[in-house]
Amino acid sequence: MRRPLISGNWKMNTKLEEAEDLVRAMLTQLDSIDNVEKVLCPPFVSLATIKEIIKGTSIKLGAQNMYFEDKGAYTGEISPSMLVGICDFVILGHSERRQYFAETDELVNKKVKKALESGLKPILCVGESLEDNEASRTEQKITRQVNAGLSGINPTSQLVIAYEPIWAIGTGKAATGKQANATINLVRNTLANIWNQETAKAVRILYGGSVTGNNIAEFIAEPDIDGALVGGASLKADEFVRIVRQTANIKATQ
Ligand code: PEP
Repeated sequence: MRRPLISGNWKMNTKLEEAEDLVRAMLTQLDSIDNVEKVLCPPFVSLATIKEIIKGTSIKLGAQNMYFEDKGAYTGEISPSMLVGICDFVILGHSERRQYFAETDELVNKKVKKALESGLKPILCVGESLEDNEASRTEQKITRQVNAGLSGINPTSQLVIAYEPIWAIGTGKAATGKQANATINLVRNTLANIWNQETAKAVRILYGGSVTGNNIAEFIAEPDIDGALVGGASLKADEFVRIVRQTANIKATQ
């Protein structure tokens, strides 16, 4: 019912030529995999060039961030209207933006609202710190982030949520499939509480945090996990294709 989604978050990696090489190295194989929505999120400066390279394929683009105003005196920011026509998705509230750029739940909420109004699909990231995890505050933290991130927003299946425990991002220490599924199930129940059951069942919820070709199967086999937001492993063409291929194969048998 929910279409699996694998998104590669390239973060602040790849100069323009490197980005072109990377997308060319995965293009044909990625395009040939059905039943999975494939989304690449390169740096802003590569988006327009990559859009041309992927033209006519089944690959989609996402941005890694955006501001919540359409234009104006906001030096250095990128607006939703600049992304529309290039991107289908936009990652919002990534833990690195919350940590290094002081993004609050309130700011993330404004961005999610604006992305949806603009016709972009937000990938809203939530996740607890190691400290919260060890103090058994995961449930409380995630519920708060989902509630605050979606405050004042009408039910919509255009939203994607990525559950990314901060302790698993870029550390090589992924959650287990069972742990991730339990928290993702909590996210789905939270959606049912603030919206309704039907929308909660339709929203795709991804796992993110040290996903590789070696562990993707463990996550994808879980019933509530609809795909992955992949950082480091999305910078290796073969590895990313492996992740997408396994996702397609496993979800086809469920
Ligand atoms: C991410 O950047 O969202 C991420 C999950 O990174 P990594 O896969 O490298 O842990």
